[in-house]
Amino acid sequence: MENRRNFIKKAVIVGAGSVLTSGCGDSKPPSKSVNINKNKKIRIKLATSWPSNFPIMGEGIERFAQRVNTISGGSIKIKVHPKNVLVPAFGVFDATSIGAIDAYHSASYYYKGKNEAFNLFTGFPFGFTATEMNAWLDFGGGMELWRELYDRHNLFPFKGGNTDIQMGGWFKKEIKSVEDLKGLKMRIPGLGGEVFAKLGVKPIQLPAGEIFISLERNMLDATEWLGPSLDIKMGFAKAAKNYYTGWHEPGSMLSLVFNKKKFNKFSDEQKMMIEMASEEMNAHMASEFQHANSKALTEIKKSDVTIRSFPKPIMEAAKAAMLEVAREKSAKSEDFKKVWESAQAFLKENREWSDIGMNAYLKVR
Ligand code: CA
Repeated sequence: MENRRNFIKKAVIVGAGSVLTSGCGDSKPPSKSVNINKNKKIRIKLATSWPSNFPIMGEGIERFAQRVNTISGGSIKIKVHPKNVLVPAFGVFDATSIGAIDAYHSASYYYKGKNEAFNLFTGFPFGFTATEMNAWLDFGGGMELWRELYDRHNLFPFKGGNTDIQMGGWFKKEIKSVEDLKGLKMRIPGLGGEVFAKLGVKPIQLPAGEIFISLERNMLDATEWLGPSLDIKMGFAKAAKNYYTGWHEPGSMLSLVFNKKKFNKFSDEQKMMIEMASEEMNAHMASEFQHANSKALTEIKKSDVTIRSFPKPIMEAAKAAMLEVAREKSAKSEDFKKVWESAQAFLKENREWSDIGMNAYLKVR
C-alpha cells in the first residue's frame, strides 16, 4: 500500500497520463514503463557557426539552451559553444554527424557541398517568405524531406529561427541595368551568388571580418550581408551609399540539428521539449528581426544612404537565371530535383494567397 501511495504521489508530480491507465486497479508497484526516472540526464555539446555574443542568431540559440535547461528540470543540459571553440564555423555539420559534438546551430546552405538540395532548406532567390517557409516545412512536406536527406548523415534537424527578408546589399554605384552588373565584384554567397554570376557579377566569398575593409578599399564593389539590424553593425553605410531591397534571401531558415543517435536517447517528453523550444526560438527570432530591422532602418535613413530597388528588367533576368540554375542542379542531382519540385509546387499555391492576402493589404496600409 505504501508503494502504491508513493507511486500515485510521484505520478501526480510527474503528471504522466500514461501511468494512470497502467497503474490503477491493483496494488503492485509500478512496472518499469512508468516514467519517474525516464528523463535521464543528458548533456548536449552544441556548437554554432556564429561568433560569441552574435546578435539575434547567436543570442537566439543561447536563449533556446537556457530555456530547455530550465523546462527540462535539469534533465537536459545544453552548453552552447561559439564558432572555433570546439570546431570551426562550418565544421559543425561533420562534427555532429560523427558524434564528436551532439548538436549545432547553423544554416543548411553552408553544406551544399554535401548535397545541392541542402541549399533549399535555407531558402532560395524569389522563394519563400519566412511565413511561407514555415508553412512548407510544417504542411508541405518540407520537414519530411529535410529529415530524410539529413538522416543519411545521422542528423536530425529542426527549425532554427529565420532571418526574415534580407536586403539586396550595399553597392558603391547605382545599378541601372543588367549591363551595370557585368564584372561587378560582390560578396554574395549561395544561390543568390550563382544567379548573379549568370548576369555577369563576380561573386566573392569572404569571412565576415574582411568584408568591410574590402569594400572600403575598393576590392569589392558591393556586398550583401543580412538586413538593417546586422548590416548597420558592419559599418557598410560608410563605404557604399546605395542600399538595395531584397530578392535573394527572402526568408532564410536557420537550422538546429542533433546527432540522431544522441537525439534518440531522449525520452518522448525531452524530445517534445526540444521541438517546442525550437518552435519558440523560431517565432521569437522572427519578432526580434522585425523589431531590430525597423529600428536600424530608421537610423540608416537618417544617413546619406539611398535606399533603392533593382529595376524590373534586372529582377526579371535574375528570376530567369534562378530557373536556369535550378534546371542545371536538377539535372545533376535527384535530391535537388525532388526538393525543388516540392518547394515550387508549394510556392505556386502560396504566392496566390500571399499576393491577395498580405501583399494587397500592405499596398493599402
Ligand atoms: Ca545574406
